[in-house]
Amino acid sequence: MTRLIHLTHRLFHRYACDQLLIPMSRNIALTFLKMYPFSKCSKSMLSTPSSLVGEKNIVLQGAPGAGKTTVAMFVGQITGLPVIDINEVLEKTWHMSVAQKLQEVGDELFLQEEGETIKKLSIARSVISLTGSNPMHPSSMYHMKKTGIVVYLDVSLEDIQQRLEGMNVDHVVGLRPGVSIQEMFHYRQQFYHQWYDVRVLCQVGDTAEAVAKKVLDGVKRYQDSESGKFISTRSIAKDSEFRRAPSFFTDVVIEGLALDGGLYVPADQLPELTAGEWQRLVGAPYTERAQVLLEKCIHPDDVPAVNLREMVVKAYGRNFSCNKIAPVRHLSGSQFILELFHGPTASFKDFALQMFPQLFAYCMPRICNYLILAATSGDTGSAVLDGFLRLSDADKQRIAVLTFFPEERISQIQKAQMISYKAENVKAVGVKSDFDFCQTTVKQIFTNPEYTGFLTVEYGTALCTADSINWACLLPQVVYHASTYLDLINQGVITFGDTVDVCIPTGNFSNILAAVYAKCMGIPIRKIICASNQNNTLTDFIRTGKYDLRWRSMTASLSPTLDVVKSSNVERYLHLVSHGDGQLVSKLFSQLEEQCYFQVPNTLLQRVQRNFVADWCSEEECLDAIYSVYRSTGYILDMHTALAKVVADRQHDGICPVVIVSTAHPCKSAAAVLQALRVKEISQHPIDQLQMLNSLNSLPSIHKAVLERLGKVHIQESQVCPADPSDIMDNIERFIQQKFMNVA
Ligand SMILES: *Cc1c(COP(=O)(O)O)cnc(C)c1O
Repeated sequence: MTRLIHLTHRLFHRYACDQLLIPMSRNIALTFLKMYPFSKCSKSMLSTPSSLVGEKNIVLQGAPGAGKTTVAMFVGQITGLPVIDINEVLEKTWHMSVAQKLQEVGDELFLQEEGETIKKLSIARSVISLTGSNPMHPSSMYHMKKTGIVVYLDVSLEDIQQRLEGMNVDHVVGLRPGVSIQEMFHYRQQFYHQWYDVRVLCQVGDTAEAVAKKVLDGVKRYQDSESGKFISTRSIAKDSEFRRAPSFFTDVVIEGLALDGGLYVPADQLPELTAGEWQRLVGAPYTERAQVLLEKCIHPDDVPAVNLREMVVKAYGRNFSCNKIAPVRHLSGSQFILELFHGPTASFKDFALQMFPQLFAYCMPRICNYLILAATSGDTGSAVLDGFLRLSDADKQRIAVLTFFPEERISQIQKAQMISYKAENVKAVGVKSDFDFCQTTVKQIFTNPEYTGFLTVEYGTALCTADSINWACLLPQVVYHASTYLDLINQGVITFGDTVDVCIPTGNFSNILAAVYAKCMGIPIRKIICASNQNNTLTDFIRTGKYDLRWRSMTASLSPTLDVVKSSNVERYLHLVSHGDGQLVSKLFSQLEEQCYFQVPNTLLQRVQRNFVADWCSEEECLDAIYSVYRSTGYILDMHTALAKVVADRQHDGICPVVIVSTAHPCKSAAAVLQALRVKEISQHPIDQLQMLNSLNSLPSIHKAVLERLGKVHIQESQVCPADPSDIMDNIERFIQQKFMNVA
């Protein structure tokens, strides 16, 4: 029944998209393209190089000195397509050299005349090498983009400088005495970034021929509308039905969980970057690293590069209080701290949730409203609220967020943080019960087809989640693991190829799985150390291969985000290490449902142990660690980070650097931290607690965004809901009426 409702719901979406022709899901796009294959190709059509682009052109853009002309020649040779050099076209039209023209009319007029000439060109099925300045003329680039696939030859500044130094550069727009190549280069980048469909990340020493091959690989991926698919961890490879069922990124973002109860994973392996490509990113800022990696993992049909860029800049631009976004700091000996708490709500959840709402808004079919529903015991709530609050006004008309948190079992500061978000499209409601009740009730609501069906029909509203079950929440987390490694190179701690270990306080297994993915993409991580609190199912699992919930009862801890019974993302990991054995995964997780237990085969356990080491520690050990680290270094760890520190002390052999992942700012659990620091009289008031932490003059410094948030609330204002599912449902309905139906 649930399945049926899901399916009709899906079909309803699709149909509506067809009718409206507003950003349609890739599924529909594909059906259309099969009927009218003007531009994109199916796999079989991609087999010969010349049929790669249909009637389109391959258009190369890039900085002066990037090698466009030479690379175009090779691309022409391989594909058999004619090559057109815009420089030559211009010189023929103007009857003079480009340098002469530039001298004669000056930069501005030059760009204009250049653009006008290009707009008159009618070219098809060719390889076009643009001039370096074309992308600065918008309407001519529209013309180029309409008739071709724009490929950006992304060459490093150092390479460009080297190549231009020996050349006569009197033909380069904007490069006059007093302007350095570096300035010209940085200025130009904004234009290049605006237009490309495919980026080729060139590495030092690439020959033109090698770059040409990369161009064709990139174009091939771009043209292959059937690549970039997702499957469920429980789908069976031989089952051709499932294999064919197209789930694209766009679908996965909106659906969250797969229909068979499994989790979505890419059907193909994650792309691996070469050492040279990684090295290109060593000097790049976080946003650029994120952009490159996400581009490689998200097919341009789902989210084009230019839209991805906007999202990344918005997510990791000004919202983070540290411009390095995810800085790495030396703690002592071989230990480093990765600070993931500079986001607006001070936990690493911001890395997923500053990005996810934007992806969601981009991918959602514009036919109904969406209510993001979340039960939270801590950091997720405020991160979800904050992320969705930052959407554009138009998107906020269609997407609203309601979170439920246990009124009594959550830190003062976290509660204050959450209820401070009471604007426009988001709201947090306290429930007179514990987290388990909140979560179970929300789950029941999601799997109650009558209720969800009612919301869809009555209010045109669909329910969605926003947690690490969703691939689009997990993916952005891969970036900071890679970024850490690059920063360690920057700091001279390692050189590329050296190994590092990471130690991660783990709950739902998303952060740690993202480290595994970073490793798959080519980051040389040796061991990934899984740190748990006393609720240590994962420690036992990694040590014995038994995932056993039979004798376990959850105990409340000072690190509640780690008090997880079923770590959902273990399923994705087992799918990965079993090389996509959906049958096995299916069997294991239905056993877990029915018998609260499974054991993985020995061969699999060995593979698990090649990746992971696991350990746990007690609350007292964490509190002691916070105290002793503060005394010896002046640095204050939060409870989760302290756990990772204790486990790293025990499990790391000191052979290589170990990165201790700090998942939250100490201010989030200020009361516990102050207790650990043996502060005598701890105020009950959140703001006083923060000030008290701050008065210790230690690192990390105070989290300004959190302090500001807390200044905005009066705890008494919070709305409290009785522990009754029907009250929760009433709350949901009322919220939908207010937000989407404009009922006061
Ligand atoms: C959510 C959370 C964790 C657990 O992360 P997973 O990716 O679910 O393993 C750890 N620390 C903090 C502070 C968190 O908020």
